[in-house]
This record gives sequence, C-alpha cells and structure tokens, in this order.
Amino acid sequence: MIDVLVIGGGNAALCAALMAREAGASVMLLEAAPKAWRGGNSQHTRNLRCMHDAPQDVLVDAYPEEEYWQDLLKVTGGLTNEKLARIAIRASSSCRDWMRSHGVHFQPPLSGALHVARTNAFFMGGGKALVNAYFRSAERLGVQVRYNAQVNDIELQGGRFVAAHLPAREVEGRQLPAERIEAKTCVLAAGGFESNREWLREAWGQNARGEWPSDNFLIRGTRFNTGILLKRMGELGADIIGDPTQAHMVAIDARAPLYDGGICTRIDCVSLGVVVNRDGERFYDEGEDFWPKRYAIWGRLVAGQPGQQAYSIIDQQAIGRFMPPVFPGTTANSLTELAHKLGLPEAQFCQTIEAFNNACQVGTFDHTALDDCHTTGLAPAKTHWARPLVKPPFYAYPLKPGVTFTYLGLATDESAAVHFAGKPSPNLFVAGEMMAGNVLGKGYTAGIGMAIGTAFGRIAGVQAAASAGFVDNQEARHAAV
Ligand SMILES: Cc1cc2nc3c(=O)[nH]c(=O)nc-3n(C[C@H](O)[C@H](O)[C@H](O)COP(=O)(O)OP(=O)(O)OC[C@H]3O[C@@H](n4cnc5c(N)ncnc54)[C@H](O)[C@@H]3O)c2cc1C
Repeated sequence: MIDVLVIGGGNAALCAALMAREAGASVMLLEAAPKAWRGGNSQHTRNLRCMHDAPQDVLVDAYPEEEYWQDLLKVTGGLTNEKLARIAIRASSSCRDWMRSHGVHFQPPLSGALHVARTNAFFMGGGKALVNAYFRSAERLGVQVRYNAQVNDIELQGGRFVAAHLPAREVEGRQLPAERIEAKTCVLAAGGFESNREWLREAWGQNARGEWPSDNFLIRGTRFNTGILLKRMGELGADIIGDPTQAHMVAIDARAPLYDGGICTRIDCVSLGVVVNRDGERFYDEGEDFWPKRYAIWGRLVAGQPGQQAYSIIDQQAIGRFMPPVFPGTTANSLTELAHKLGLPEAQFCQTIEAFNNACQVGTFDHTALDDCHTTGLAPAKTHWARPLVKPPFYAYPLKPGVTFTYLGLATDESAAVHFAGKPSPNLFVAGEMMAGNVLGKGYTAGIGMAIGTAFGRIAGVQAAASAGFVDNQEARHAAV
C-alpha cells in the first residue's frame, strides 16, 4: 500500500509530495489535469511574499514578521487565524533554500511589476517553471505521478482516511475503469471551487436586477479546480471555514478566455483614468491607493455593476505609465466617438467625463506617490492621480470580474489536519487553496497564496509521512514547527 497519497498537482500538492518523499515515504500524486495542463493555478503565479529581517538575495531592505502580519490583518479585516497566519509568514522566510534545492530559481521583479521588490521574491520563469521543476524533482525522487486522475470521492472510517476513488473515464481515446486507491495517509491539495460554474451561481445567487452575476465571471486560472472534493468533504462531515462568495477577484480584460487567461489579462491603468459602468457612470474612487494595494477589490466592484461590465478609460497622458494589456484598447479621437464605439449611452458618458474633468484640482502629478491630484465636489471622488481626460486619443479597456481563487475551505490547525466536529483526523491533511480560508477570510496581499501553499504543503507532507510511520529528517522537522 502507498504510504502517502497526495491529491492535486499544484504548488501545495507538490510541496507535500516532495516533503513526504524526502522523509522516506512512498508517495503517489493524483493530478486531475492532463500533463500539458498540470500545475493548477500555481502555474500562473509569479511570486512569493517573504518575510525577512535584512536584505536577502533578490529581496531588498527588510520585511519583518510584524509588518507582514499587520498587512495581512488589514486586508482581511481581522478575518484570519493568527496562529496559522504566523506559521505561513515565518515559513516564508526560510523556505527558499529548500525550493532552490528542488530546482526553483528566483529573480528580482522586472520594472513595471507591482512595487514589490521588498516584499516578494519572483520565480524565474514564473509559476510554470516552478511547477515543472517540482514535478521533475518529484519524479527523480520516485514520486509516482498520475495525470487525468480526478478524484471524485474519499472513503473515510470515522475521521480516518481509507481510500480515494477515481471514476471510470476516457483518457486520450482509452477507456479506464473506476479505481479505488488505498493509502496509509492522504494530503488534500485540490484547490478551490472557482471553476465550478454551478457552485459559483449558487453562492452568488441572483441580484436585484434579476441577473446571476457569476455567469459573467471569468476564471483566471485552471479549469480543473471544480471543488468536487471540497464539497464531498463537507458532505462527509469535515469542518468547513469561510464564506463561499469570498475570493480573490480582479477586474480583468473582458476579452480574456473563460479559463487560464493568467496574469497577462490584467488591466493596470485603472488608477490613471476613470472607470465607468455600462450606463456610462463612475462608481468608485479609482485613485484610492496604489494600484497593487487595490487591484484585488475591483473584481467585486465590477461584479456589482449592471451586466458585470465596466470600462477603464484613459487618455494619451497615461500611455507609457502602465504595463500594456495584451489586447489593444478601443481608441477614439473624441469622447463621443469613444462612447459610440463602446456602445455606451453617449450623453451620460460625456457628462460623467466632463463632471470628472471639472472636479479635478490642479496638483503635481506623481504616480509613484499618493499625490495631491484629486477631485472636489464629485461623488465618488477620485482622491489621487486625478487629471482631466483631455488629451486624445482616448483609450478604453473593457473589464469583467476575474476570479483568481475562492476562499471557502477545510478548517485546519498547525498540523494541517482535516477536522471533523473539531477533532483532527489522524491521517488526512489539507494544504493550499483548500485551506487558505483559515488565513484569508477576505482580502488579499500579493504573494500570500504561494506562501500559505508552500508552508502548509510542506507541513502536510511531513505530517502525512509521520502518520504513515516515517520519522522525518531534520529539514522536514524544521518545516513542521
Ligand atoms: C493568474 C493567477 C496568478 C496568481 N499569481 C500569484 C502570485 O504571483 N503569487 C501568489 O502567491 N499567488 C498567486 N496566485 C494564487 C495561487 O495560484 C494560489 O494561491 C496557489 O497556487 C494555490 O496552490 P494550490 O496548490 O493550493 O492550488 P492549485 O495550484 O490551483 O492546484 C490545485 C490542483 O488540484 C488539482 N485538482 C483539482 N481538483 C482535483 C481532483 N478532484 N482530483 C485531483 N486533482 C484535482 C488541479 O488540477 C490542480 O493541479 C495566482 C493565481 C492565478 C489564477
């Protein structure tokens, strides 16, 4: 019988598999995706938020534990488990050497990236290179990896893991029978439920306009995070944590594909202009704070607008000040022409821009600081970087909510055990998005998804191996503390 079964093929699963294997356990990893699409949302990532008390290789200055914790506390509004959060924070300061030992390389951020050279270590080659390195290392160490292996049920005895079930399925023209895979212990690292359209619909419901907002959401990452196991674990009595409507949601290019658009579909010019809805009206302060600190609230803001659609409008003055989107914007030499091209109500749109332009106070524009260019007497106000949109050509980028990952998850503790009625399972563990909701009740701070997945993936791997009877090595013990 296999010692440790790991379900999932993203960062958290791979960290768990590698740690369990390093501790001496035999490990099988089941990835729902085919090989070409392996790596879950982790393949789309770029960086890891790291605590450090002094400059460290690619990280400048210091980002001490307390500052990291306060940043997290602020974005979650206190909806976080401090004990688990501090475990992830502390682990982020020491995991990079281990990551390097499995082939992950780091680089400083490219110019134009979020202002994160101090807080975030970037993966050379991005998340795709990271997961490829981990898969290579796992296979070299003898982890059995199986693709096209979407687990649809978990067999338990009391709170004890017994076996995972794979349904009968067709893979590349071959009919495969249903399977029951037993293991001494198991790590669940199968992501959130962001790609389950029905579940999103159920969670978000119908709004006062009679719309089902989630029908207009795009999914930034993998189509394989359907939450089958999250739902099943709930049915089997596992303790669930979080609100199903809470998720990391960004306003992305409305022309992005339904799944796997990744980071290149982001629209980063919001703070340089105005955003209007399909009625041609503004609805939020575009200059509230630096874009990296605010980009994750715009998905929900757009979700609240009619048709879940909005447009980021800029003029020539903004060009060159933001990362250009993949798809070109709609351009026009006048505002009326732009409204016409976008199909927006022309009079309302022009009135919105005119009111905005008139409300802008002359200041010293500085996009690298919270400058004094703001509006007066306008609702909603634009509190920084407010400059009249007067210099043609004008540009518009269509926006839709893009779900990065959902926060509903399995309740856990510092050992990463799945809980049943408050009691930890002796041999079933959870890591990554499937438990990130313990730390992220709401909100987000860039790079913490990978910090949580790396910390708890490693802990879950060590604990699963230990529960299967493998006394871990020193490094593994260190990670579990
Ligand atoms: C576009 C984008 C950019 C991001 N950028 C960053 C970033 O720079 N930094 C950061 O910290 N976070 C980032 N995130 C968030 C980050 O991806 C997640 O927090 C992290 O990858 C979660 O890792 P995970 O292993 O839990 O989930 P995933 O990487 O999503 O892995 C889940 C795995 O489970 C598999 N699976 C699902 N269901 C089943 C099943 N029933 N049976 C078997 N396998 C199953 C999936 O195929 C997948 O391999 C980004 C996310 C996206 C979408």
